[in-house]
Amino acid sequence: MSDNKKISAAPSWLGLSEDRERYLFIPERAEIVRRIFELAIGGMGSYAIANYLDEKKVPTFTQSETWDHTTIDYMLRNRATYGEYQPKSFAGGHKKGIPNGPPVPNHYPAVIDRNTYETAQIARKQNLANRGRKGNELANIFAGLPTCAYCGNEVVLHHVTNIQVLACEQVLNGVGCSRTAWTYRDFEITLLGFLAHPALAERLQGEQKDKLIKLIDKIVDLSTNQERSYAVRVDIAVLLKEIVTKIVVHFAGDVSTPRLPSAQISKDVRGRYFEIRLWDGRLDKCLSIS
Ligand SMILES: [Zn+2]
Repeated sequence: MSDNKKISAAPSWLGLSEDRERYLFIPERAEIVRRIFELAIGGMGSYAIANYLDEKKVPTFTQSETWDHTTIDYMLRNRATYGEYQPKSFAGGHKKGIPNGPPVPNHYPAVIDRNTYETAQIARKQNLANRGRKGNELANIFAGLPTCAYCGNEVVLHHVTNIQVLACEQVLNGVGCSRTAWTYRDFEITLLGFLAHPALAERLQGEQKDKLIKLIDKIVDLSTNQERSYAVRVDIAVLLKEIVTKIVVHFAGDVSTPRLPSAQISKDVRGRYFEIRLWDGRLDKCLSIS
């Protein structure tokens, strides 16, 4: 770059050389940006990510003591993360500028790859649609994973007389399906208990085994360390997305008689179970303990 091309500002995760002619890659910050994208892909909204970083005492890129969800949001939507620069025109007093000419690839040192960026965009859309904007509560660590055994629709979190339950979307949409639900707490205990069983890790090798053991450590953490349980739940949610490829919920066991959409939703039906697959492994069946 020539002298008359001094850079006026860099994205917050990059630095500037002293002569203001080059962007500087800051490894610690790049690592944090990567983590933020990872969390978004894992299903966390920007509020949840900000909370998580604060809890982990991750330093911000500014003077601010705490992370702001708008900063996270901006970062997740910023193509500069994978190096792209969009020239803009500020003519006519446009504050944010309007795109002017084609985007320039590899303008900034990339901190993530394009594929990660695009995956995060899909995850963000789903996350906004599923949970609304305020995703502070990480109530459902399985969000996006389980499907209904009877109709194949997604299984979502719902309240039945103040109790959190998982139920098939069709049940909630008033279509009917099995009109059964599984108490969230019971489901979480059963599923995490299944994953933490030593026999499961024994079946695996190498990287997969390491990852499952990492998850088991977190599950143990969750049951012993209440204080940091929010951060631990985020870690578990992210690991689950990497490890578990399929959860099929049989809310009413093997036999489900379709019921009228107006019928009351029965909770925790005897014989309920789920099927679960890790990576491309076999489909295991796990019955509820109670
Ligand atoms: Zn269903």
